[in-house]
Amino acid sequence: MKKIGVLALQGAIREHIYQIEAVGCEAIAIKKPSDLEGIDGLILPGGESTTIRKLLDRFHLLEPIQNLAKQGLPMFGTCAGLILLAREIVGYEDPHLGVMNVVVERNSFGRQVDSFECDITLPKLQKVVPAVFIRAPHIISVDEHVEILAKYEERIVLARDRNFLGCSFHPELTKDVTIMQYFVELIRNH
Ligand code: GLN
Repeated sequence: MKKIGVLALQGAIREHIYQIEAVGCEAIAIKKPSDLEGIDGLILPGGESTTIRKLLDRFHLLEPIQNLAKQGLPMFGTCAGLILLAREIVGYEDPHLGVMNVVVERNSFGRQVDSFECDITLPKLQKVVPAVFIRAPHIISVDEHVEILAKYEERIVLARDRNFLGCSFHPELTKDVTIMQYFVELIRNH
């Protein structure tokens, strides 16, 4: 059984654990560096990226996670988690983990629609999934080899770069496990 860690410092943690178990994997809450031992993949949940970054520093998790990312451990960032993974964040000098070859912009869906639900088409997976956007970022640009998996109103909201999957919205706040299943496939194939 694949073991998937969920960074458990702040944000939507329980919902990811529920989805991991729903697709037949074991979920492990990651709170300290030793929790990372033996995991097959890692989820970086949504929340507030600046807060999660401070906690990553405080609990000495930034560097161990960066090292695992560079070794090829599959990682899935949702919303704030995508911001943590990105190589570049618009308006910021430095990234957080900085491992995924995308440029992101925070809170990019405007104040009047800070939070909303909609259906998103995933052409490659031939599926339509429900999506919850909460003060969501979007991907402004990607390197050539990055696979764009979904757009919403012309904006990239789901992409895969090698072992990294980044999502603007919150699939874990719906009952649909399509994207979690896709992440598990990425773990199996990597
Ligand atoms: N706006 C948040 C940030 O910049 C992300 C919101 C979320 O994860 N739902 O970190």
